[in-house]
Amino acid sequence: MPIQLLPISLANQIAAGEVIERPASVVKELVENCLDAGASQVTIDIEQGGRRRIRVRDNGNGIPRDELALALSRHATSKISSLSDLEAIQSLGFRGEALASISSVSRLTLTSKTPEQEQAWQAWVEGRDMQAELAPASHPQGTTVDVQDLFFNTPARRKFLRTDKTEFSHIDEVLRRIALARFDVRFQLLHNDKIVRQYAAVQTPEQYIKRVGQVCGGSFTDQVISIDEQSGPVRLWGWVAPAHACRHQADVQYFYVNGRMMRDRLLGHAVRQAYGDSLGEDRAPTFVLYLELPAQDVDVNVHPAKHEVRFHQARQIHDFVLASVRQAFTAQQPQSAAEPTN
Ligand code: ADP
Ligand code: MG
Repeated sequence: MPIQLLPISLANQIAAGEVIERPASVVKELVENCLDAGASQVTIDIEQGGRRRIRVRDNGNGIPRDELALALSRHATSKISSLSDLEAIQSLGFRGEALASISSVSRLTLTSKTPEQEQAWQAWVEGRDMQAELAPASHPQGTTVDVQDLFFNTPARRKFLRTDKTEFSHIDEVLRRIALARFDVRFQLLHNDKIVRQYAAVQTPEQYIKRVGQVCGGSFTDQVISIDEQSGPVRLWGWVAPAHACRHQADVQYFYVNGRMMRDRLLGHAVRQAYGDSLGEDRAPTFVLYLELPAQDVDVNVHPAKHEVRFHQARQIHDFVLASVRQAFTAQQPQSAAEPTN
């Protein structure tokens, strides 16, 4: 076969293969877009575990009419425009791939209204050239992305979807992670028209623990130890369970770096090490932790799904996390436990 350029829709489907694994990946991308748009309310409507429909509505800045088509094209983003932006990224998105990818493997409509516009507009793409169609629509300020029939044109992917219940539980987990990242945003999750989760917006740190309880369970928040340590521009705050109250499953392990949830080996190792020998074989470190550091000291452009980071000073970060968690455990020890040694 001679070398030829792939049709746009096929190139987008290939890109979708990397980041859009299942309905939960769609939810993650769409909700991150809502947050980047400054939304204070996000509503997620799921039908049949997401295979039939995933609809995400926000009250954010909206997308101007003449940028709707562009929003659906690959490598089109409003979030970065230069390498220096990429090196100090503030937004959750920046690749400009999610909407193009999702629309290439589903029937997607994008409806939006900016505060300046009188009228809302709707865009969708059809056919192999991914040319967007536009029509006027009715919608309050903000954006709705409606994704129907995910993987309808990629049977190989569709075959890997599990039961509705399983797919929905993945979506629920995605929302937990996001809910713990943004206490100030109200989230609502519906499945087949029934409200399944409602996280009210909370404004003050004292109220955060309420949402943590909602997400992680009262057994975590009842015995939890608070952490808040600072070293120069680096801060670690959040909550850890003492060893005896740790969960038997590794299901409450939320680590955020500058507002992004991470599954980072280095950070996981630091927390595990802080528990030392006190953690029984049958228990897993249990924590909700937030690391904040200058954006230019960390590289998030490592992985398309953005689960990993690279710290410029990995060793120091590791040791700071280790020392901070240890310190929290020590400070928590009841006085009587500190027996005199002689
Ligand atoms: P990225 O988030 O990496 O920029 P996306 O494909 O997810 O790429 O989105 C493309 C663009 O569409 C974004 O840069 C943003 O300008 C716009 N956009 C997407 N979703 C929303 C939304 N919910 N509200 C406002 N703008 C949005
Ligand atoms: Mg995005």
